[in-house]
Amino acid sequence: MKQHHISVIVSRKRFANNIRILKEYVYPAKLSVVMKADAYGHGLAGLVETAITAGADSIGISTNPEAHMVRAVSQDFPLIRLRMALPEELKESVAELNIEEQVGTWEASEYLSCEGIRRGLPVSVHLTLDTGMGRGGFGINEIDTIRRVIALPGLRIVGVMAHYANADATTMDYSLAQNQKFDRFVEALALELPDDVLFHTHNSAATMRLPNLRRDMVRVGAACYGVKTSHNFSNLPDLKPCMMVKTRITQVRNIPAATKIGYGSLYTTKRPSRIAAIPVGFGEGYPRALFNKGIVLIGGHRCPVVGRVSLNITTIDVTDLPHVPKWGDEVVLIGDQENETITFEEMADKFQSVHTEINLMAGSMNEIKYL
Ligand SMILES: *Cc1c(COP(=O)(O)O)cnc(C)c1O
Repeated sequence: MKQHHISVIVSRKRFANNIRILKEYVYPAKLSVVMKADAYGHGLAGLVETAITAGADSIGISTNPEAHMVRAVSQDFPLIRLRMALPEELKESVAELNIEEQVGTWEASEYLSCEGIRRGLPVSVHLTLDTGMGRGGFGINEIDTIRRVIALPGLRIVGVMAHYANADATTMDYSLAQNQKFDRFVEALALELPDDVLFHTHNSAATMRLPNLRRDMVRVGAACYGVKTSHNFSNLPDLKPCMMVKTRITQVRNIPAATKIGYGSLYTTKRPSRIAAIPVGFGEGYPRALFNKGIVLIGGHRCPVVGRVSLNITTIDVTDLPHVPKWGDEVVLIGDQENETITFEEMADKFQSVHTEINLMAGSMNEIKYL
């Protein structure tokens, strides 16, 4: 779809740099680059090759179509599915996609074992342990079931994994308890597990905050895209956001005090004002919740969103700008302009969301241009 009114720009160079920095940072642990949800909205197809050449050891996906996109670039690059799959997904995975699958139940393990026997080549699986995330996986009371899974023919146990629920929280108590629980699982299974199995538990936040507990591999999403998941820690300073969103002004006008703006008339000018309109709203993924809260950059200055965000139009108060902006001037919704920056994190904080939701909306609702 050709469009001229909004630019969602993704920098392959920044993505590659982030991966290189992270790879060095986590060494000797391996780096699995998480590219589920269409690479967090950055466009999986546009970034697969970059991830592989920059040094990813594996790629994390969620859906079979995502796996197909990776397979179009590489037939044998290691792919890990970061959730439990449906039976039909597993059938296709075994037949043609060769995804390393998570198993967390006897039922799915047995199903995959049969598929592996049928194709005459074992299916690579990661045992998923619930250490406190609560979304699924084997519980600590299921050690005997796990032993039976390990003994199944047609399966190759390549990994043992868990996921942190609170690695971005103020204190790490819960994460440390999860880590101890993982150790208890591993001790109980030590004699049964193959020697070359990969243990992996860390997402982006845990990778930064629990560096001594990284084990054999980390699964990093957010940090690869240069965003962080919480105020409770600092990212590596050199990680840079990969996505930028820009548009241009469609109208500027002067209006008197006491004028109402937008749907629901939720904003009334308190003084004679200059208001710019931009051709972007929640139809382009600019969150509707940012009414009377959002900030955009014009001429290197921060300017507030006033009134409701409409489907395709948002209004900006430009009264305080030192210059009068013109029709067609650049507006930065996310990214840098001169010496100012709007980050995904800042935007997400304004409406209790997370950066990924904004990445996703901008990336999935608009064409992406790659630098
Ligand atoms: C999404 C996901 C990750 C990556 O999380 P980030 O916080 O983006 O690094 C890692 N592991 C699993 C199981 C996931 O689902």
